[in-house]
Amino acid sequence: MREGLDASAASRAGGPFADARDIADPIPHLLLWVDDEGRIRFLNRHYTDLTGHDREDAVVHQSWRDRIHPDDLEGLLAALRGGRSNAGGLRFEFRLLHADGTYRWMLLSARAGEGGAPGGAWQAEATDIQARMSAEEDLLELQRTFEYRLARQTAELARTEARYSSLFSVSKIAFAEQEMADAAVIVHRLRSEGVTDLAAYMAQHPEVLQECVAAVRTISVNEACMRMLGFDDVDGAVDRPVDSTAEDIEAVLLRQFEMIFYGLENVEGRVMLIGAAGRRVPVFYSVTRLADERQLSSLVDISSQERIEEMRLAAQEELARASRVATVGAFSASIAHELNQPVASVSIDANTGLRLLKREAPDVAAAIRVLERMSTTTQRIATIVKHTHDQITSGQQEMERVDLAELVQRTCELLARDLRSAGISLRQDCEGDVPEVMGSYVDLQQVVINLINNARDSMAETSVGKEIAISLRNLGSEIELAVSDLGTGIRDSDLDRLFEPFFTTKEGGIGLGLQICLSTIQRLGGRMSVANRLDRGAIFSFRLPVSTS
Ligand code: ADP
Repeated sequence: MREGLDASAASRAGGPFADARDIADPIPHLLLWVDDEGRIRFLNRHYTDLTGHDREDAVVHQSWRDRIHPDDLEGLLAALRGGRSNAGGLRFEFRLLHADGTYRWMLLSARAGEGGAPGGAWQAEATDIQARMSAEEDLLELQRTFEYRLARQTAELARTEARYSSLFSVSKIAFAEQEMADAAVIVHRLRSEGVTDLAAYMAQHPEVLQECVAAVRTISVNEACMRMLGFDDVDGAVDRPVDSTAEDIEAVLLRQFEMIFYGLENVEGRVMLIGAAGRRVPVFYSVTRLADERQLSSLVDISSQERIEEMRLAAQEELARASRVATVGAFSASIAHELNQPVASVSIDANTGLRLLKREAPDVAAAIRVLERMSTTTQRIATIVKHTHDQITSGQQEMERVDLAELVQRTCELLARDLRSAGISLRQDCEGDVPEVMGSYVDLQQVVINLINNARDSMAETSVGKEIAISLRNLGSEIELAVSDLGTGIRDSDLDRLFEPFFTTKEGGIGLGLQICLSTIQRLGGRMSVANRLDRGAIFSFRLPVSTS
């Protein structure tokens, strides 16, 4: 007779398991007693509650095995066999077929040496861990989904990165990428310290601006950029201090720091880049923020556009000059005609007078009459000349509404290159929305050009701090335009004579510039004035009435 049968029969007959059965049955856990060979000798009633399977049959025929998931049976049998002797305690997870036809996960557990079951068997317990296993599976599924998505995103990122870097390297547009993380730390610190206007703060603390500039690194430039700057390899363009890469680099970088400070996505403007062997390249730049405080600049060479703009302005001036020459030419023809007759009459009278006086008996009375006629004729000549002059200087002037702010802007653009090469910086301090004045655009531009050129000449010997400032102020009924410099200033004794024709202190000077300025401004109903600045240099200014039409 098999031992299992024996145990079952014993339990039914009130053998060694009978008492234990009374104790174990009400317990709402699956309890089992196992012998040393791994056979189950007893199952409590909970087994039948769970599986719907007769526990007697399960023990007598060891048919409990049919209720174990085929994938788990082998492992469970081995676990039961080694159960009692397993020093680490028994723990085994298996799936048990339940009465509703589904498998649920159970955890079998017993401690080493634990026993207490009758008949030399030892006792183990199985608890339902389906919920935990499902949760674990859900978690696993979630993890798998997450990993899959991550992998997909990484791949997508890699593709984007590849697209970006191929765009970066093959594009005809020049790109440069800069690392701003260290500068960003400083900029953020300033913000947290309560700074609200970064540009104003940097103007007062240039050492902080320099610290920020020194913290910027160029990480990479593309081939187009390298070629534009005249380098043979990318390293040549990258491995150089950032402050040597452009004129006014501090101003440009300040705007880039402002992007970080104010959270701006993009800034753009014009700058003169410095390339290999000091090559200057004017560019239009547009900077975008990337992740990790990096910034990407796209740079478009605008030297040809600048040349076109300069040529356009030069052509405009040329045209204005030509039209003036043409006007003068037309007038000179009419002057010649008008003057022909009186000049001939003077010439005849002069000869007559001479003849009258050279006689042996000079006819003085007749000579006086001839001289009086000559005097009248010369007066007529003077009147003709004056009339013609008036016509040239005023009658033919085309009056138009002139926006001085725009005129200053364009004139500065026209002269910027010249001034830069003379080491002079040009500052505009123009009030926005200044009303228009009446005048001739070309003549007023000539005035501003003359004043700026004089300011430049006055700083020829100056070595540091060369600056010309142009300001425009709305005084209500008048507009004031002032040009100030940091040059030699004017001797007190010369102050009154500056506007006289042909007054000059320059070698090779003509001394007509200021006279032309004065007559233009006076003709337009304005005034000119000049003064020395308190520290050094001079200020020339003019005021013109606001256009009322
Ligand atoms: P030119 O430039 O041919 O000398 P201008 O009439 O323009 O003729 O100037 C006359 C003189 O006025 C100059 O030679 C110079 O002595 C003086 N002047 C004009 N502008 C300035 C200035 N910004 N600073 C100092 N002196 C000036």
